[in-house]
Amino acid sequence: MERTIKLKLELFDESKETLRQTMVLSNQVFNEIARYGFDNQTCSKVSVHHATYYGIREKHPELPCSIVQGIRDVACDALKGLELKKLPKSKPFSAIRYNKRVHRINLFKQTVSLSSIKGRVAAEFSIPEYYRQYLNWNFKTSTLSYNKQQDTFYLHVTIHKLSPEPIGDKVLGIDRGIVNIAVTSNNKFFNSKPVKNVRAKYAFLRAKLQSKGTKSANKLLRKISRKEQRFVSGVNHCISKEIVSMPFDIFAIEDLTSIRVQSRNKGIDFTRKLNNWAFYELEQFIRYKAEAMGKSVVSIDPRYTSQKCSACGHIDKGNRKGHLFKCVKCGFQMHADLNAARNIAVLGISGNGRLTVTQPYIACDEVEAREGIDTEHSDNAPHFIVRS
Ligand SMILES: [Zn+2]
Repeated sequence: MERTIKLKLELFDESKETLRQTMVLSNQVFNEIARYGFDNQTCSKVSVHHATYYGIREKHPELPCSIVQGIRDVACDALKGLELKKLPKSKPFSAIRYNKRVHRINLFKQTVSLSSIKGRVAAEFSIPEYYRQYLNWNFKTSTLSYNKQQDTFYLHVTIHKLSPEPIGDKVLGIDRGIVNIAVTSNNKFFNSKPVKNVRAKYAFLRAKLQSKGTKSANKLLRKISRKEQRFVSGVNHCISKEIVSMPFDIFAIEDLTSIRVQSRNKGIDFTRKLNNWAFYELEQFIRYKAEAMGKSVVSIDPRYTSQKCSACGHIDKGNRKGHLFKCVKCGFQMHADLNAARNIAVLGISGNGRLTVTQPYIACDEVEAREGIDTEHSDNAPHFIVRS
C-alpha cells in the first residue's frame, strides 16, 4: 500500500540556491544519459551504467555518485516507458527523484536532509494534521519539485506500509453469551462477578423506573442506560484486549445476525437490545485490536454451534441442557459455552463455515473513517441503540 505526501520545505536562501543548481545539473545529466540510451537503443541499467557512469563522474565530480545512479535509473525507466521510440527530455527545473540513499527524512522530527552538489542540505517541514496517520509508515523514494513563481521546493514523499507478514493458522474460537461474556476454545471463561452484579443492579433500577413511567423517571432511565453502556464498553475493551493477545493468529467468531444469539435472550426488549449491542461492540473491538496486531478475524456460520458435539460431531437439540452439554450419542460432557467455542474454532480452521474474513491491514482510506469508531456504531452496525 502506497501513499504520496507532499511536504513544503523550509530552506535558507543559500540552501535553495544549492538545490536549484543540483536540480539543473541533475536534469542536464538526465538528458545526457537518456541521449546515450536512445542513440544506442538500450534501456538496460547495466549497459547504460557502464557506458555513462565514469564519464559523468569525471565531468561533474560535484554531483554525488548516488544521485548519478538515481538519475540513471530514472532515465532508463523513461526510455523504457517510451519504448525507445522517443527521446525523453528534462527541463532545467523538472522534478528530480531522490532515492532512499540520497535523502534522510525524519517524519517525527519533521526534518529532511538531501544530497546536493554541496553536500547535505537540511530542510524542515511541517506535517499537516491529515498526514499524521502515516507517521509510522516506511518511506522509500521522494521527488523534489520546484515552483519557480513561489520560489518554493516541495518534497513528494512516497511512503508505504509493509505488507502483513504471512499470518499463521492457529485458530481461536470465541463464543459470546450473556452469563459468560466470552468463552474461548482454549478453556478461558470471561465472566466476572462485578459485571453480573453491576448489570443486575442496573436491571433492577431499570425495571423500577420503567414501572413508574413518569417524565423524570424516563430521564433518569436514559442516564443510567448511558452509564451502563459505558460500563459494558469498558468491560468489552478489557476482554477483547486479553483475547487478541493470546497466541493465536485467527479469531473465529459467530456472525452477529446469529439466530442463537437472539433467541438466547428472550428478556424484555431493552435487555435484548443492550445485549445485542454489547455483542456487536465486543466483536468490533476484537476486530480492531486483532487487525492492529496483524491478526485476522473470521466470521462463521452460527448454525448448530451449540447443538453439535465437539467430540463426535453429532448434532442434536437434546445435547444441550442449560449450561451443560451432554452428547446423546457419545456421552461427551462439557460446559455448553466451551463446547460451542470449540465448534466455532473448528469452523474457523476448516474454512467451511467461514462467512467473511477480515484480513489485517485495511486500506488506509478507511482508517480515518474508523477512528473514533470504538464507541460509535458504524453504518453496518445494527441500529438498536440503547437510547429510548
Ligand atoms: Zn458426541
